[in-house]
Amino acid sequence: MPADSAIRSFDDYVKTLYPDYDAFHQATHDIAEDVIPYLLESDDQEGIEILKYLAQPDRVIDFRVDWRNDKNQTETHRGFRVQYNNALGPYKGGLRFSDSVDLNVLFFLGFEQCFKNALTGLPLGGAKGGANFNPHGRSDEEIRRFCQAFITELARHIGPTTDIPAGDIGVGSREIAFMFDHYKSITGRFESALTGKSPAFGGSCGRQEATGYGAVYFTKEILAHHDDSLEGKRCCVSGSGNVALHTAEKLIEQQAQVLTLSDRGGTATFPDGLDQETLAKVQRKKAQRQSLQEICEKYDFEYHDEQKPWQQKCDIAFACATQNELEKQDAQSLADNGCRYVIEGANMPNTDGALKLFAEKGIVVAPGKAANAGGVAVSGLEISQNRALMPWNIDRVDEELRKIMKDIHKSCVKYGEQNGTVNYIKGANIAAFKQLSEAMTLYGKV
Ligand code: GLU
Repeated sequence: MPADSAIRSFDDYVKTLYPDYDAFHQATHDIAEDVIPYLLESDDQEGIEILKYLAQPDRVIDFRVDWRNDKNQTETHRGFRVQYNNALGPYKGGLRFSDSVDLNVLFFLGFEQCFKNALTGLPLGGAKGGANFNPHGRSDEEIRRFCQAFITELARHIGPTTDIPAGDIGVGSREIAFMFDHYKSITGRFESALTGKSPAFGGSCGRQEATGYGAVYFTKEILAHHDDSLEGKRCCVSGSGNVALHTAEKLIEQQAQVLTLSDRGGTATFPDGLDQETLAKVQRKKAQRQSLQEICEKYDFEYHDEQKPWQQKCDIAFACATQNELEKQDAQSLADNGCRYVIEGANMPNTDGALKLFAEKGIVVAPGKAANAGGVAVSGLEISQNRALMPWNIDRVDEELRKIMKDIHKSCVKYGEQNGTVNYIKGANIAAFKQLSEAMTLYGKV
């Protein structure tokens, strides 16, 4: 069967199973586009069955979360955990609290997580969860009560050898602390059922920084492969959450110029590049839960309402906000302005249209499942430290993180290099699939 029709038939299979999940279709199609031609080259029909197997999660947990707000009124939200695949290890992946959370989003994130976790080389399965709860504007006490109600339901489905959630958008160290404390009360056990904990109670040093730092380490590898370096590179960063701010921090340390940060409302620009002192101010205010716009007003930084960062002239774009944030017209302006590399700090931040344009223009794209794998990788290291009851110092964590990002880069090159250029998306997809399919084959799944 020619590759095009095999991909179409796989897409139809997924769409028949889950007709309305468009973000999920996008994620499964992106993988199939690389993996199916690779499998057909060696007439590997079993591989295609494995890919179909992987498209269905093992289990979907969907529950009601009732909690009391500060006015003593009951509010009800929906909580979810999509346990995608545990071929490589216990289910592992973040929890997202956002009004945009639904099963479409969690299926796409859970599916991606299986491939990302496979790339880390650590024994981690894939999962994703969260709730359609928006923490913005809620008091600490409200967040605590919500987290308690959420974990009351989820606790029976997670544990150190079954499923180990962590944070994601809307779930940071505060939320993890509330959830971990409640898990401990319910079960009576202090165990590694959550990662992203503070080092004050069993978390790993460097976990908070890991996704952003890891994305920069991965970029360094890409640049070294192209006989280039980060020094003096003009970088546009989108977002102003954990990933974006730590990406910016590491970029400045590497003598790159950080020109932008952004949020839902617009973009802050720093024409001469952000310095560590200014970034520290932003970080402090963000920790006090101020919006980027408020911060810009306070310090007199330029803030452009309703603008994305992608109109700025840059060498490297770091998309660190959220899925499908970078659209075709944004890709066009990046290309017109001479951008050469796009690094996905977020999960699936590029639309299909943007990715096609980057491919046409020869712009290198580092996919999220490789570039942002540093976060879940350090979560894996946190589990190791918890099991051994032995915390590591920051130097050891950082060294392991650098090594993991280097190894992921090597895998991408191994499976993505053709005629002297590396297709990092293809390389990551095939490398991760091979890891998963080997285990699935040994299990006799197909
Ligand atoms: N939410 C992060 C991700 O997208 C981290 C997950 C984890 O540490 O389990 O990979």
